Amino acid sequence: FTTAIVGVLVAFSIIALVLSLVKIEDVTLPPVVKYGMVFDAGSSHTSLFVYEWDSDKENDTGVVSQTLSCDVQGQEQNSSAADHILATVAKTMRQYPVAFKGARILTGEEEGAYGWITINYLLDSFTKYSPKTHTWVRPEAANIFGALDLGGASTQISFMPEGSVTNWNEASEFMLYGFNYNIYTHSYLCYGQNEMLKRLAKELIAESSSSMRVDHPCYPKDYNETVLLSSFRTSPCTNRSDPRLTLDNKNVTLEGRGDASGCLAAVRKLFNFSACGQSQDCTFDGVYQPPVRGQFITFSAFYYNFKFLNLTEGQSLATVRENIKDFCTRSWEDLSSSYPEENPERLPKYCANANYILTLLLDAYKFNETSWNNIFFQMKAGSADIGWTLGYMLNLTNMIPAEAPAQLKGHVP
Ligand code: AMP
Repeated sequence: FTTAIVGVLVAFSIIALVLSLVKIEDVTLPPVVKYGMVFDAGSSHTSLFVYEWDSDKENDTGVVSQTLSCDVQGQEQNSSAADHILATVAKTMRQYPVAFKGARILTGEEEGAYGWITINYLLDSFTKYSPKTHTWVRPEAANIFGALDLGGASTQISFMPEGSVTNWNEASEFMLYGFNYNIYTHSYLCYGQNEMLKRLAKELIAESSSSMRVDHPCYPKDYNETVLLSSFRTSPCTNRSDPRLTLDNKNVTLEGRGDASGCLAAVRKLFNFSACGQSQDCTFDGVYQPPVRGQFITFSAFYYNFKFLNLTEGQSLATVRENIKDFCTRSWEDLSSSYPEENPERLPKYCANANYILTLLLDAYKFNETSWNNIFFQMKAGSADIGWTLGYMLNLTNMIPAEAPAQLKGHVP
């Protein structure tokens, strides 16, 4: 990829704008309450989050609550207009009585790191007041959670490894509440769910000898989807030329086969595992990653898919595998009558998504039977959504101080 192309994709993954509405004179709200608004313009949707907190508790952990969130679908088609959109949004926002802090594109690594901050802030893992010693203590490293985010265009992994992060590209350092945190974070562009599905379809079509009808092992039996080959041109993840395929205006029909093991094998081909050679500290495509450590919270599409499949209740890896396999073999007739409420665009894709999640977690990130039990599929902590937006706002408003808290939490004079 060229940097420009990556930039545009990232743009739609993560355009952030943060506003903080500080006391304004003619509002009736109590003066100590502050509000922050963050817009997340993702690759497949835009969300608005509103947070609130008492200004006198600004630097305590876990005091920010989410007041509301709302979603708008779409945007995906306009990636070339990123700069124009940012400028227009900034101009519009400046007309409102808020302390506008800017609209910008986050890198994938920032997105991962802010997700990590959000989780650990909400779960109070950064600092705890010890009534015994009357000091603020850092909880055990094991109590710091890792973060796994699966978006439409990219996916991120962030965690505190055992030793230091030896590759500076993937290292982020934070001083939070008086303690230093070195975290590993990596963002994989084109490994988000929507881009993965497009890459899978393109690969299946390229491999097929028949040009008009192509077997899709992950789609349910009796389900067909027609794709226009030129649609692969619109994404930087699928627009590369392939000698096996011309991206012209021809239609191809993908025919569902409901083949669980074929699906897993096809999904695995989207990763270049051999680029890692014998190295254990490597995921795929030669990307460095130290061994995973501690407990992880997996959110966004990791959660959506596993929630749909009823797999978020701490099931063992063997059970999860079995359930996914069973789901993948169900026909379209069976699925559509069993899940009449489910979005018919999403329903045929859960098999591919679930196999993709398994491959990413097990083969790439190298979770195993045992460490699987350290993965928690969760969308909320308390009433706040888990994602990068809260962490981003906390950082921008200096709400997580670098120094240790000066006052004793809960101290009674
Ligand atoms: P992003 O828009 O980048 O946050 O990506 C979220 C991903 O989750 C996209 O692939 C969406 O298609 C997918 N997604 C959003 N809502 C749901 C849902 N309810 N069920 C399954 N997938 C979803």
